[in-house]
This record gives sequence, C-alpha cells and structure tokens, in this order.
Amino acid sequence: MKNIIDDTSINSVCPSCKNSIKIKVKDIGKNMTCPKCSKNVLPEVDNDFVKESERAKKSFDELDKTLKDFKERKDDLF
Ligand SMILES: [Zn+2]
Repeated sequence: MKNIIDDTSINSVCPSCKNSIKIKVKDIGKNMTCPKCSKNVLPEVDNDFVKESERAKKSFDELDKTLKDFKERKDDLF
C-alpha cells in the first residue's frame, strides 16, 4: 500500500528550460536534476498536496501497523 503512494507521480516544470518533469511523491523536497538541462530543480508543488500526501502516508503506515498487530494476535489465537 505504501508503494502506491510513493510511486504516484506529479507533474512539475523545470524553471530553467520549462521542460515538464515527472516527480514521484517520495522525491518531493529532495534535490532533483532536470533530465534536459541538468540544472537543479526544486520541485514546485502545492503545499496542500504535500501535506495531503504526507498525511496519506502516515495513515498507510498506521494501517500497516494495525495489520501487523492483527496478524501477530491472530498467530496467538490459532
Ligand atoms: Zn531544465
């Protein structure tokens, strides 16, 4: 489930050459290089989107934990 969020891409534009770049959600905030002009690109993204995706990631982590807990408990029961 985590991977679904991590592999979601958003479109950004290189401020230098206006090349459109696909950025994976997990790479938001990291330094990236434009594949066309090799200049550093700091992904320009909607802050709300980042907040939302981080929140989504957290809930997936929590869901993951709950599932693991459940599995452990199930092993105890059976
Ligand atoms: Zn560029």
